[in-house]
Parts: sequence; structure tokens; C-alpha cells
Amino acid sequence: MLEFDLTEEQRALQSLARDFAQREIQPVALELDGMDVRESFPWDIVKKGSALGLRTMALPPEWGGVGADLLTQSIMIDELAYADMSCCKIFSQCWKVSRHLYMAGTEDQKNRYIPSFVEDDTFVLGQAITEPDVGSDNSGYYDPPAGQGLALRAERQGDYFVLNGMKHMIANGPVAKLFVVTARTDPTVSQNNGVSRFIVPSDTPGFSIGRIHDKFGFRAYPNAELIFEDVKIPVEDLLGGKEGPASEETYMRTVGSIESSSHTMGVARAAFDAAVKFANERVQGGKPIIQHQAVQNTLAELYVALQAGRTLLWRTAWTSTYKEPDAALAGACKVFCAEATRKITQGAMELFGGVGVMRDLPVQKYVRDSLIMLHHAGGTQSMVKLKIGKTLESRYQQGLPVV
Ligand SMILES: Cc1cc2nc3c(=O)[nH]c(=O)nc-3n(C[C@H](O)[C@H](O)[C@H](O)COP(=O)(O)OP(=O)(O)OC[C@H]3O[C@@H](n4cnc5c(N)ncnc54)[C@H](O)[C@@H]3O)c2cc1C
Repeated sequence: MLEFDLTEEQRALQSLARDFAQREIQPVALELDGMDVRESFPWDIVKKGSALGLRTMALPPEWGGVGADLLTQSIMIDELAYADMSCCKIFSQCWKVSRHLYMAGTEDQKNRYIPSFVEDDTFVLGQAITEPDVGSDNSGYYDPPAGQGLALRAERQGDYFVLNGMKHMIANGPVAKLFVVTARTDPTVSQNNGVSRFIVPSDTPGFSIGRIHDKFGFRAYPNAELIFEDVKIPVEDLLGGKEGPASEETYMRTVGSIESSSHTMGVARAAFDAAVKFANERVQGGKPIIQHQAVQNTLAELYVALQAGRTLLWRTAWTSTYKEPDAALAGACKVFCAEATRKITQGAMELFGGVGVMRDLPVQKYVRDSLIMLHHAGGTQSMVKLKIGKTLESRYQQGLPVV
């Protein structure tokens, strides 16, 4: 039976995230958004959040975390992203990558990297796949043949792999101390069979940061180019100790979809609350605008989208936490929540009238932040839909239940 009750522990973590978000993030979110992206990284928030365990919470207790499962993470993201999606995503990117290290890493890799991550409040993580010429090719929908697709080369030379090439748009790129990097280990086969993942500390000789991208939303969560020039990675840092396809890939995509949907719904809820407050306080035509039927109708439509998105998100997170991760359901959740949030944030901004587009109120920021989510997180909306379609075809062909 599907239940929406939270456990006591989940409630405690939800309230920890809410208190932190309202106390530390909300007051500075607009200011961070307006800053130069090369200077806005919120180190103070990262350090304070880390001291409360927010950076490391996806790790199990024996590795220094609290073992927050996907549903718990989703509930916490809802609170943090309500205050600011960028600050929230800095933490949750650490959850995703540390989860990946923990799940896929060898015991030796975990022992060498996880303690340093846990002990250092400024240890931020990143994941590097996308390259200037290779984006949707990585979505899991395509499998580029030999000679096409990912070009960052990892060539085996004795006890090392030598990495040459570049990545771009990598989140936490300018600040992360460690990346999980996908590179081509065998250029003679298709991409799916010829790539492997490496643990790359950012102080490795030959590694450098290129351009820092200037986005129109989601601004305090920085993206950058990563440059690899003869970067020597010892064979012990091949993630999981083996080359080729990763068994955890589908699960990690499911995690990514749930995580991004949680961010969008947090922003949507913030925009919706702001709209209801404004509509109650703004008087036109002799009464608060919420008493005009057209405004009530608009708010009702936004409310429908918000509740539908939240319900789908919770069901998806619950299913992936307590049952089997379902990639098609997670994809549907990502597509629906991103679209719903576009509708809710834009609807809220319009309801504010002229002040809606002014930078001194956060409602225009919610729109800019939410639009970014249509462009990434497991792929663009189009690519996620294509993958859903492919999964449905395959389920039907195999005689499996489609839904
Ligand atoms: C804020 C942000 C954070 C990011 N963080 C990271 C990160 O941490 N690590 C990382 O590796 N990457 C990251 N990315 C990159 C992201 O994953 C890619 O931008 C995304 O996968 C799309 O790739 P692309 O930009 O190269 O677009 P392209 O692949 O060039 O796509 C261009 C257009 O073609 C469309 N398209 C392609 N094929 C089809 C088709 N068959 N049918 C219909 N339409 C199609 C796409 O939907 C899109 O609209 C981030 C991006 C952003 C914006």
C-alpha cells in the first residue's frame, strides 16, 4: 500500500532542511542570483550546511552520513530548493556523486576517498560526462558507433590511464575537489561499450578549469569546462575497478530524475505560495485580486499542476526507495514536473503584474531557475520522452506490463 506518512526520522530531516533553508539560504538567495557567477559560490552556506550533515547525508552511517534514502532526499530538496535551487543543488550533487562512489567504488576506493570527503566541509563533488560535441548522445537513448560520441580519451599506459580532451557545462565544475569522469577507454567500439568512469581529484597535474559558463538562471550553481592535458590517473582509480558499461547506470539516471524533479517542485511551491500571498494582499478593482474569479481560476490551475507534480514525485521516489527503481516512471516524473513548474512559475509571475518582472522580487528568479530544468538533468525533455517511448516499446515486446 502506498502511504504518504513520513517517519519520525524523515520529519526531523525535513525540519532540519526547512530551518536551515529559511535561516541561511532564503535571506541571501536573490543577492547570490545577481552576482557575477565567478564570485557567487556560497561557501559560507556550504560550510554551515556541511556542519549539519547536509553535504554528506546520502552516505550510510558507517561511512559518515545518515543514509538518507531517495524519498527522504526528495523531501529535503523540496525544502532547500524552496529557498534557492542553486544552493540546494550544490548539496544534492554531492549526494548523487557520493552515492555513486559508495555504490560503484571498490573497498579500496571508498577507503581512500570517502573519509576525506566526509571530513572536509569544503569538499564538493562533480560528475563529468557532457562534452562540447556530445550531449544527448549521452542520454542513454543513442549509442554512437566507434569514432563518434564521447571523445575524452583515457589511454592505458602501464599502471595509468592518461586522459586528454575536455568536458563542458560540468556542475560544481569550478569548485569540486573530485569528479567522476566518463572517458573513452576503447575507441574501436560503440560508446556504450567503450567508455569507463574515473575518479579524478581536481589537483591532479594536467587537470584545469576552463571557462565558467554564465547561465541566465540557477546562477549560484556554477558550471564549467574541464580541461584534461595528459592527466595521469592510476588504474586503481578506474571506478569499480573495471572498464566498460556500468551496471549502476540505469539506477543513477533514476536518482537524477527524482532529484531534478524534487528541485523543480520545490521552486514551484515557492512560486505558488508567493502568488497566493500576493493575490490576497494586492487590491485592485476595490478588493483583493484573489476575490476576482479569473484570478481564482488561475490559482486553481496552478494548484492542480502543483499537487499533480508533488503526488507523482512522491510516488516515484517512494517506488524507487522501497520497491524497484522504475526508469520510465522517473522519466515521466522529470518531464511532468519540469513542465508543471514552468507553468506554475510563469503563472505566478504573470499574476504579480509589472512587479513580477522586477529583480527585487524572487518570482522572476523562480521562472529563470525553473526554465533551466527543461534543458538538462538526465537529458532534455525531448530525450527523456524518447527514452520513455523506447522503454514502453521494449516492455511490450517482452510481454511485460507496460505500466
Ligand atoms: C544547468 C546545467 C547543468 C548541467 N550539469 C551537467 C553535469 O554536471 N555534468 C554533465 O556531464 N553535464 C551537465 N550538463 C549538460 C547536460 O546534460 C546537457 O546540456 C544535455 O544533456 C543536453 O545536451 P546538449 O546541451 O549538448 O544538447 P544537444 O544534445 O546538442 O541537443 C540539442 C537539441 O536537440 C534535441 N534532440 C537531440 N536528439 C533528438 C531527437 N532524436 N529527437 C528530438 N530532439 C532531439 C535535444 O532535445 C535538444 O533540444 C548540464 C547542463 C545544464 C544546462
